[in-house]
Amino acid sequence: MRATVLYGAGDVRIENVPDARLIESTDALVTVSRACICGSDLWPYKLMKPGEPPRRMGHEAIGVVEAVGSGVRTLKVGDVVVMPFAYSDGTCAFCHEGLHTSCVHGGFFGTVELPGAQAEALRIPLADGTLFALPVGADDALMASLLTLSDVMGTGHHAARAAKVARGKTAAVIGDGAVGLCGVIAARRLGAERITILARHPDRIALAKEFGATDVVSERGESAIERVRELTGGFGVHSVLECVGTEEAMRTAIGIARAGGAIGRVGVPHYEVIPASEPAFYNNLTISGGPAPVRAYIQELLPDVLEGRIEPGRVFDRVIGLDQVPDGYRAMNQREAIKVMVKP
Ligand SMILES: [Zn+2]
Repeated sequence: MRATVLYGAGDVRIENVPDARLIESTDALVTVSRACICGSDLWPYKLMKPGEPPRRMGHEAIGVVEAVGSGVRTLKVGDVVVMPFAYSDGTCAFCHEGLHTSCVHGGFFGTVELPGAQAEALRIPLADGTLFALPVGADDALMASLLTLSDVMGTGHHAARAAKVARGKTAAVIGDGAVGLCGVIAARRLGAERITILARHPDRIALAKEFGATDVVSERGESAIERVRELTGGFGVHSVLECVGTEEAMRTAIGIARAGGAIGRVGVPHYEVIPASEPAFYNNLTISGGPAPVRAYIQELLPDVLEGRIEPGRVFDRVIGLDQVPDGYRAMNQREAIKVMVKP
């Protein structure tokens, strides 16, 4: 079968690899109907160091169950399933608390340890706990939005929850990638009255406004902080969704949070130490967030997708086949595309 392999910075290839197959009795084998390229894939695409082992990329997919191991109880061949970016047993203490990304038996797709979803098929460990069977056919018109439940919509929702977005309050979203845009959807869904998006790209700003952003700040750094404070009577916003993961983004987040406010960070941090600890302290800020337990959120978000109340699938602005995946990485890295869907 064909799959995506990252060999080094900027070096991503489609290759023939051994077919995915069942290994453990709790595995399922899934044929990939749709996958995507994620903003977080761009970190190793940009920064992978010489000598690091190759990685089979991809951690978001919808597919069809082709086979299940003898220990799989809740899934059957032919089920259309969405795959969260992390696998989990669904039974441990953390899974019961809704924190599937900390599952004691879990892990992540698209790593050196576990091949990813930008491929024709993949093996799903702990299939009962990991996969979510969808009440749709494989060609359902809602497929793009359902696919975002794999990662970006659940991650935007996690940012909003961690940032304590609440009805009638103010929110700001740092990051105009797919997660930031889904963060706007999530903030609106949870009732934020004003939602400021920090963004520069006109297409992304337009989409953010359609998703519910009420204000746009295109400045950066100190000027962005000043501008958000101007918009909020000098106070800042109650909730900040930090969807980038750089030190500058976190510094901005702390700078625009209102006293007593909260920051939900979901961008994979590429800094050692959280900056601006003094203002964070004196303003009594909560800094929360991490890898989103998207498995826990599918149940909550699915009805809104099925009934068309949210349309996170609009973040996809390019659809490609597996052979075009290297160009898809290039396009996302150069910000030509917001989010690329892959149809293997
Ligand atoms: Zn678990």
